[in-house]
Amino acid sequence: MSKTRCHRCGRDLNAGALTYEVEVKVRSMFDGVIPESESHADETEIERLIRDMAACNEEELNRQVYEDDVFIMCPECKEAFMESIYSHLHPQAAPDHGRAHLIH
Ligand SMILES: [Zn+2]
Repeated sequence: MSKTRCHRCGRDLNAGALTYEVEVKVRSMFDGVIPESESHADETEIERLIRDMAACNEEELNRQVYEDDVFIMCPECKEAFMESIYSHLHPQAAPDHGRAHLIH
């Protein structure tokens, strides 16, 4: 049986040790508004999007819509990972859920 290692520090995570599964889910948002294009007066925003999409490969297009990753971490790396995320939040950010929501 292969050993599980912390995806951040590489430490062996022995059976029964406290470990965390950290899921990262990123989704593009759409607020229902398609802005007017300013750079190409004769090109609609939809036409510009189609032109931009044609220049991307499938993986790039998928990553523009969603990204999912799952990491296994030891307790110290889970804390460091979360602290890193929260330390980069704008002071006026007000997430709907989670630790930062409780702080504001
Ligand atoms: Zn670790």
